[in-house]
Amino acid sequence: MSFFSWLANGLGTLMGVVADVVSTVVDTVRSAYNAFADKGGAVKEAAVDESRRKRERLREVNDEVMHLRNRAQSRGSLSDQERRRWHDLSEERAELMGKLGEAQEVKAAEKILENEALIEKVDVDLHTTHVLQYNAFADTLGKKCPMCTRQMKLQWRRDLAVPTPKDFYWGCTGWYVLKGEIRACKHTEALKRSDYRLMTDASAPEFSLNADEFGHIVSDSGTAEIITTRVDDLRSDLSKRKQGVELVTCPVHGEHMVLRKKSQPMGLLDTYFLACPHWQPSGQGCSFIEKLKSGSQLAALLKSETGRGIL
Ligand SMILES: [Zn+2]
Ligand SMILES: [Zn+2]
Repeated sequence: MSFFSWLANGLGTLMGVVADVVSTVVDTVRSAYNAFADKGGAVKEAAVDESRRKRERLREVNDEVMHLRNRAQSRGSLSDQERRRWHDLSEERAELMGKLGEAQEVKAAEKILENEALIEKVDVDLHTTHVLQYNAFADTLGKKCPMCTRQMKLQWRRDLAVPTPKDFYWGCTGWYVLKGEIRACKHTEALKRSDYRLMTDASAPEFSLNADEFGHIVSDSGTAEIITTRVDDLRSDLSKRKQGVELVTCPVHGEHMVLRKKSQPMGLLDTYFLACPHWQPSGQGCSFIEKLKSGSQLAALLKSETGRGIL
């Protein structure tokens, strides 16, 4: 099942839409969505409930896999029975992650149908790279690595305050999967021309500025203070509810990433990061983390979790 002939993400953005106008594209999504619902596919509340149950099960599966992994490390080996169990759990995990991926598509389609009136075409150029960076926050649905079939993620050179369009690339999430010292996959790809053509909800006030102006605003100390307070509030709210961030999942464990704060940050853009729930500061757990090093990522985080971005 896929509603999209293009790449999509949970913010309701489509990438690579070259020729068509917004209404034609939304109509295509609508008919695929309706056909899926007519065939009894779970949508809306039912889809949310089903995902919640699958995520709970996924968490149990991951915990048990971690337990077996630790046992293997401390004892040096596993019994045949334990090895079989590990194998079964890995299969169950792959199946659950596949189903949860489908549910992410359902939700993305619903967002597009709800926001139809706000969706515009954006051709990313020097002045609008922050729109691409904003969208890089959420998991990209449907971008698979040609080498290993893992999900790919939109990346950019993190040392740049304001990247240019050429500084973005696709990186395989296998980069974060360590087999001993070796990374499981290091495949990267340049963006295709069409990847710079987005259809997205362009109503966010952040998008009325150009990339440079936006960069200036988040470096203002008064603004940085307000953003820090808001992200701190969100962090304590999520942790009270024991929840992660909805639009970003660990590619290995499939669970929502947890918003964390560095203990001694150097300014706002060095303060927050997302980590897999199985991440450990000691480096023992899952190595998947995502640094929130741009105003665009923080805006996407706040907008998707609280309904309002940073402006
Ligand atoms: Zn790969
Ligand atoms: Zn993980």
